[in-house]
Amino acid sequence: MSFWLDIVVAAPAHSSITGPLTYESESALSPGQLVRVPLGRREVLGVVWAERDDAGALTAAQRKSVAGALEGIEPLSPNWRSLIGFTASYYQRALGEVALAALPPQLRELDASGLTRRLKRHAKASHSRTTAPTEAARPVLSEQQAQALRAFESADRPALLYGATGSGKTEVYLRAAEEVLKNDAQAQVLIMVPEINLTPQLQSRLHDRFAALGDGAVVALHSGLTPAQRLKGWLAAHTGQARVVLGTRMAVLASLPGLRLIVVDEEHDPSYKQQEGARYSARDLAIYRAHLESRSSNARSEATRCRVMLGSATPSLESWQACLSGRYQRLDMPLRVGASLGAAKPEVRLIDMAQQPRGAVLAPPLLAALAERIARGEQSLIFLNRRGYAPVLACHACGWKSQCRYCSAYRVFHKLDRTLRCHHCGYTDPVPRGCPDCGNVDITPVGRGTEQLEEQVNQLLSALQRPDGSPVQVARIDADSTRLKGALQAQLAQVHTGQTDVLVGTQMITKGHDFRNITLVAAINPDGSLFSSDFRAPERLFALLMQAAGRAGRQAQQSAAAQMWVQTFHPHHPLFDALRRHDYEGFAQEELGTRQAAGLPPFSHAALLRAEASTQELAQDFLRAAAQTAAAQALAGGERVRLYPAVPMPLQKLANVERAQMLLESDSRPALQQFMSAWLPLLGQLRKQPALRRVIRWALDVDPVSI
Ligand code: ADP
Ligand code: ZN
Ligand code: ZN
Repeated sequence: MSFWLDIVVAAPAHSSITGPLTYESESALSPGQLVRVPLGRREVLGVVWAERDDAGALTAAQRKSVAGALEGIEPLSPNWRSLIGFTASYYQRALGEVALAALPPQLRELDASGLTRRLKRHAKASHSRTTAPTEAARPVLSEQQAQALRAFESADRPALLYGATGSGKTEVYLRAAEEVLKNDAQAQVLIMVPEINLTPQLQSRLHDRFAALGDGAVVALHSGLTPAQRLKGWLAAHTGQARVVLGTRMAVLASLPGLRLIVVDEEHDPSYKQQEGARYSARDLAIYRAHLESRSSNARSEATRCRVMLGSATPSLESWQACLSGRYQRLDMPLRVGASLGAAKPEVRLIDMAQQPRGAVLAPPLLAALAERIARGEQSLIFLNRRGYAPVLACHACGWKSQCRYCSAYRVFHKLDRTLRCHHCGYTDPVPRGCPDCGNVDITPVGRGTEQLEEQVNQLLSALQRPDGSPVQVARIDADSTRLKGALQAQLAQVHTGQTDVLVGTQMITKGHDFRNITLVAAINPDGSLFSSDFRAPERLFALLMQAAGRAGRQAQQSAAAQMWVQTFHPHHPLFDALRRHDYEGFAQEELGTRQAAGLPPFSHAALLRAEASTQELAQDFLRAAAQTAAAQALAGGERVRLYPAVPMPLQKLANVERAQMLLESDSRPALQQFMSAWLPLLGQLRKQPALRRVIRWALDVDPVSI
């Protein structure tokens, strides 16, 4: 007797396969089981999605059999399959693509015997539990932390922990996790962070705090792991051995059969949005997943619901609006830990650069403030969101600029290895001896990046000394300085141990670090984002500057003197005014008012259709044809969806490919979803038109984070 099964596999992009394929099997297999099946000439990993009564429309010649099941791995749960199904349909991607991308890559390569070996090793490791756990030291909760936790316990909705930088949000996450884990031996907690490398402290804190749960109870899941580590972490999560999973956005799709709490730290961070393939928002999926895991738990009792807590000092306007409308519950922690001891927020100083000497890197008053800190043995942090030495190299004789040959962008001058590098496509060359166009040997850097800033700060401070008479130490942290494995950890350690006096860097240094001795933070050129065409640019800038300010004065004794300096040509801009008052709420109200008036998210719902081709015209032709098809077919939901004209993407050419986009907007999420589902299959048809055959690729981005 044979059985028929719907099995999900990763089909090639833009193939017409969007759902499961039907296979025959000699044994009964349950939904969720991992199998290997033939696909074309290959054998691939698949997930059994459903049993079926017959072969459906398959002819005898088309019928194929399951090659084998991956014994020893429990089937993926119905909840996991629902989550994957929702993700695929909401973000308009093939089911197989989403399902398989959510599994560790090594699982795709292992055959049955390789897997058996791996599982044995895994089982052995998990039985080697050691030592009687010690009770980890926990701080006494502050009053507002205790209050936030009480409110969370009784909340019946997703919660947003709106806590100032340094208010102790992490401790709240840990206590909420403890609460869940101690009541239920099967319970699992997922804690998501934007980037794990930036928070090595958190990982060790989790290990310490949850040591009592045994070895292997805390695992990390992120893309920086080796394939073997990733498989190991995934298996630990899937088997329930891992009780606490610390992960980046990809972890939201991990198999977690006992999931009872999801924490999304720094929920406003754009890196929660995946930027290729299925462009999901891990924050939004966290909300959906918690809802799903609660709804389907067998008893509707307290113990089996799944809670979700988002946390931020500067929440995304989407989440803030959800609090205002009552969909989320807000938990407020306005004060820093130790506020009664004087741990106040830093004083914000705006320097009008129009009043300063022309071309000054650091305004004289800022320089004086830095010197004061150095004399007192305190640390400072200077932030510039551009790496490299200079963003452009130019010839003033003929106007040549270091344009990338393949992108609509300039190549950045890196002085250390004397290269011109494209930060988009990676195209790198040694700096030419003279201008490639006219031969002029005097080609010069224009603008400033962190590499140059470090050099200039070193010069400006060279006459100064530390209290012990030794020379001032300036260090730089950015993507260039931390390329080597372990470099970031080493550099952060130097800051923590006080070896560094002045730290220069990109936004890498502004996020999350618990630096204890920094009393001055300076943003030296934030103006660029004030007038961006992306409507989210002000929200981003505000969050970034608030985060940066949050690095100053985290130690109570010094905070009376903690300052955040901002160099700007627009000191009266409302954004800076709100920053000066640490007034996120005022800023949010202002921005939401603007968004509402303009009908922008979160008051409307958006998607982008993007196309790539050898010429801009062709890319736009595709988008226009897509719009015409939609109009001609009068697609369901279309009456409530507005299509904007096709335009070049902000980075119009990337790696020799021209890119264009078209915005879709609707006041109704269901209408937009309905419309896209009907539209997507027609887009595949479009490429059959001779004129559009050479379009390279196209994709929908639902709820895009940058426009
Ligand atoms: P946030 O994430 O809100 O910016 P953190 O969680 O980093 O703040 O906490 C700031 C600092 O306060 C950390 O050094 C943390 O160890 C400390 N802290 C947190 N809660 C307490 C508490 N209840 N008592 C003493 N120190 C605390
Ligand atoms: Zn020239
Ligand atoms: Zn390039």
